[in-house]
Amino acid sequence: METILQAKDISKTYHTGSVDVYALKKCSVEFGKGEFTAIIGKSGSGKSTLLRCINHLETPTSGKILFHGEEVKNTQSSLTKYRSQVGMVFQSFNLFPQYTVLRNVTLAKELLVKEECKKNKLSREDKKNKLAAISTEAIKIIESVGLRDKTENYPCELSGGQQQRVAIARALMLSPQLLCFDEPTSALDPEITGEVLNVIRKLAQDGKTMLIVTHEMGFAREVSNKVIYMHEGVIAEEGTPEEIFDNPKSDRL
Ligand code: ADP
Ligand code: MG
Repeated sequence: METILQAKDISKTYHTGSVDVYALKKCSVEFGKGEFTAIIGKSGSGKSTLLRCINHLETPTSGKILFHGEEVKNTQSSLTKYRSQVGMVFQSFNLFPQYTVLRNVTLAKELLVKEECKKNKLSREDKKNKLAAISTEAIKIIESVGLRDKTENYPCELSGGQQQRVAIARALMLSPQLLCFDEPTSALDPEITGEVLNVIRKLAQDGKTMLIVTHEMGFAREVSNKVIYMHEGVIAEEGTPEEIFDNPKSDRL
């Protein structure tokens, strides 16, 4: 299996006042193409910090991230390129309230394409065609998450589950090679959780490489190929869902 991303000995320490919080301690993990990895563990065990370090939304205190074998450097150009290839869906959706669903989904890609047009000095006509293609693609993706009739609505007019599906569509728009979810259903009512999990399940069936922090153990067990159990900032156990759920090594797990 082709390895997409490797995290090597990632540590993260937060200094708050006079105390140091060792949020991650030398965590190493690899993600192969098409793999669906679930990260579980109790609150405060470092799951979000690991995800944020993998995305480089947070700079690790030590250790490195390799993307296709190449170290992700902490420079603006390296990070901009990297972030368009590793997507993130947050617990709290983080949509732009002032934009329609369609605009939320197209915005990042439009900025990238405009930049590319400027850099390559493309004609006005070419630029127009490229931007039109973005809208067409966005509508297809919005349709794939079941929201075709909501393209012109604003986030406040949608349910939490619908907003989260827009956030997933927005992340998919950049065709990320790795898509990360941090507790995507924790802010949702139980009856709405299913509609978001269904979208993620479908992406898994399509072979998308994904990483999900979740408390939905049934879902993790059913859909993932690999489960990581975190405890106090370390990867305490890692294995197939069968190994982790049927034969845990620690009593705690
Ligand atoms: P989880 O997602 O598993 O609940 P987190 O990764 O959010 O855990 O947090 C791991 C530890 O790091 C916790 O002790 C938390 O309080 C601490 N932590 C997380 N983010 C920060 C921050 N920005 N500043 C200080 N401490 C933090
Ligand atoms: Mg968290």
